[in-house]
Amino acid sequence: MKIHLSEIPAEGRHYDFSRETGELNDALGDLIQDRSYDVAFTIKPIGNVFELKGRVKTRMSELCSRCGWDLDLPVDQTFNEILMKGEAGDRRAQAVHGNQAVDFLAQGPDVTYYQGETFDAGAFIHEAIALSEPFYPSCGVEDCEHLEEAKRKQRELEAEFARAEEARTGHPAFSVLESLKHDKNGR
Ligand SMILES: [Zn+2]
Repeated sequence: MKIHLSEIPAEGRHYDFSRETGELNDALGDLIQDRSYDVAFTIKPIGNVFELKGRVKTRMSELCSRCGWDLDLPVDQTFNEILMKGEAGDRRAQAVHGNQAVDFLAQGPDVTYYQGETFDAGAFIHEAIALSEPFYPSCGVEDCEHLEEAKRKQRELEAEFARAEEARTGHPAFSVLESLKHDKNGR
């Protein structure tokens, strides 16, 4: 989804994209699959740059970093950018701090570079969603909602493994008796 910046009027232009309107379906597919999304932004010329302000709302699947539970996390990301013509600026390089960088973007304008006369909205929104991904997704704010259940499952698996092991080698107590018996017979 490329936007021709030279066609944007002086008062700016508003854009609304969603699963239904379909413009970003392909660009976002690898991140959000076929989930619904709501992207709204305004681009407005200011001198020889453009102001980009907007928001993306969607959901993405994650695994809880503590219990491995499947999560369906909400994404609600605002952005406030200056679009500047220039060499490929790598926002990712500036964003090594992940979420902190996104928080910063939400607070004040950052610079996104574009080439030619077009702004690639698909790539930009893709990155905004990717940057909102938490480093350590968790299924609870304070404590992991499923941690107890995950631990219980782990214990069940361990117990099952122990039983299988026991069936294969016999109960450890019996093999001790066996060895005692052999000792006696051996004398
Ligand atoms: Zn969890």
